[in-house]
Amino acid sequence: MTDKATINQHDFDTNEKFPELEIAKMALDSANVGIWVMDAATRKFLPSSRTKILFGFLPEEEMSFEDALSKVADKDSGLFLITVENAIKDRSNLYVECPVRIPGEKKHRWLSITGGFSTTDEKNSYISGIVVDITEKKQNDLRRSKFIGMVSHELKTPLTALKAYIQMLNNWAKKQKDSFTMGALSKAEKQVKKMLNMINSLLNLSGAEAGKIHLNKQEFAMDELIREVIEETMFITSSHNITVAHCDRVIANADRDKIEQVLVNLLSNAAKYSSKDKTIEVTCTKEENILTVSILDQGMGISKKDMDKLFTPHYRAETKETEKIAGFGIGLYLCSEIINRHQGKIWVESVPGQGSIFKFTLPVN
Ligand code: ADP
Repeated sequence: MTDKATINQHDFDTNEKFPELEIAKMALDSANVGIWVMDAATRKFLPSSRTKILFGFLPEEEMSFEDALSKVADKDSGLFLITVENAIKDRSNLYVECPVRIPGEKKHRWLSITGGFSTTDEKNSYISGIVVDITEKKQNDLRRSKFIGMVSHELKTPLTALKAYIQMLNNWAKKQKDSFTMGALSKAEKQVKKMLNMINSLLNLSGAEAGKIHLNKQEFAMDELIREVIEETMFITSSHNITVAHCDRVIANADRDKIEQVLVNLLSNAAKYSSKDKTIEVTCTKEENILTVSILDQGMGISKKDMDKLFTPHYRAETKETEKIAGFGIGLYLCSEIINRHQGKIWVESVPGQGSIFKFTLPVN
């Protein structure tokens, strides 16, 4: 892509057909977009000159896939490699954003790599795509999430104090046997807890976008945590019947607060997206070294086209039923970030109109 594209002026003026390849060259050059193709079997990698420049190489230098990988910042290189390997294995589309180190540049350059699979004949398949410099967009995103993080943090402190005072007052009202005050305080506590859940999601979102989900692992009984979260969710939503269908005694080694956040999100979604009389069922099993938690609801369900995208930030299924239900579209994204960090998996199975089952796994010893 170093050769300048040449479009015949006459063809252009008369709007006659000129070669698509020439237009592609011109457009890619002007938009600073690199292109690449990789043989899925041999992993032979052919980058355009622009791709090499974006990764910090000279156009005349050789650049293999491993060379490109070596430029990705250490903490992101594993994820980059796994995403590419998975796309090749599953023959699926590829999208990854990663920071690369460029000699002489103080800050990382952020690149987005988009690709798709193509098969020319039975033997040969390739994955090919584009590379774009998204540093500016990424810096704006980071500034925005820093702001959200600061605001949420400032809101959390007074709300936490408010919750403590409400609980103190509630204890006092209990002693006085003042049922009216107890009822009012219990409602106030529900609202404060709802707000704290939302604020925690925003705080986690800002952490996740800055690549800062730090795990504080500890051993805890998963079945106890599940029962605690169910009780809390039933208190906050006070609408659905949430039951434990089956729960093995499993000791997990994970970040308890973050797994609690995942359970809160999945259970409150199960309640939010199903009508009040429906039951929600939680199951927790351990097989070999894998713990699986499933949350089954009898709600509106999710269409196939939405299912693949629900775990991306700000994605919400747009249907007549969901448009009346408020939400930020970040809960499931956070769940998947937290579970991925634990080397687990999260997914959904669903039949529209009948209900959904969200499942996640965690490795256990
Ligand atoms: P929010 O609920 O705030 O929109 P989430 O990230 O938690 O954000 O969920 C993303 C989308 O996934 C929701 O907007 C909804 O369309 C869909 N969804 C999540 N859970 C369920 C569920 N249990 N049943 C049906 N749809 C769901």
